Amino acid sequence: MAARPVSGPASRSAGADDPRDGPTPAPPLRVRRVLTTRAGGRSASPYDSFNLGDHVGDDPAAVAANRRRLGDGIGLGPDRVAWMHQVHGTDVAVVSSAGGETPTADAMVTDQPRLALAVVVADCVPVLLADPTAGVVAAAHAGRRGAADGVLDRTLAAMAELGAEPGHVEVLLGPAVCGECYEVPAAMRDEVEAALPGSAATTRVGTPGLDLRAGLRQRLAELGVTRVDTDARCTFEDDQLFSHRRAQPTGRFAAVTWWEYARP
Ligand SMILES: [Zn+2]
Repeated sequence: MAARPVSGPASRSAGADDPRDGPTPAPPLRVRRVLTTRAGGRSASPYDSFNLGDHVGDDPAAVAANRRRLGDGIGLGPDRVAWMHQVHGTDVAVVSSAGGETPTADAMVTDQPRLALAVVVADCVPVLLADPTAGVVAAAHAGRRGAADGVLDRTLAAMAELGAEPGHVEVLLGPAVCGECYEVPAAMRDEVEAALPGSAATTRVGTPGLDLRAGLRQRLAELGVTRVDTDARCTFEDDQLFSHRRAQPTGRFAAVTWWEYARP
């Protein structure tokens, strides 16, 4: 057994003269992320089956059952999953609980442990962010409009308010329609490229397209965030995922993140 060192970093506590009162290292934080698919839910066609969007025409009871199932499945319970009314804007809601009124926003930020933030999508980019040092997570909805209008700029600013630093932030860009599938008019491609450089693409058939995830990666780098992973799945091509461009109406899958203290 190692003897307790008699010298070391000064304790922050007032009782620092007691040699048993060393500074207690903060327990390490663990960031969790979950991406759902179409499988495992209660919704009927065309929302089959794990639709988590409550604004797409599905039976509200089925959506509620699916959301309960998600909360239970991730081990936090339905009362610890925060949802938002997404409107393709750039507003960020700072949340400290999952109860109460659902915020109208396209990103949520929290510094609370074991509080999951959920974003729902079907082609738009779900973005999960975390500063595991500060204990701050965020979930953002970055469609064409929100991505170009700076939803990630505002999300990172809100995270910074809670103590996060860009150099510590880790990002996952989730499944979305890819640049080879996302055809848009040339004028729209140019407009989005001007606002979000790097997003212009060419589709598989040679027409103007958008690769929002490429543009978002470039923007994140400009903001000092370089630890960016991409789940390269294309929603339009992968029928395990909902895609608004492939079928309408359709459901929404979710990207969810939270942080917790790691067990010793
Ligand atoms: Zn694709």
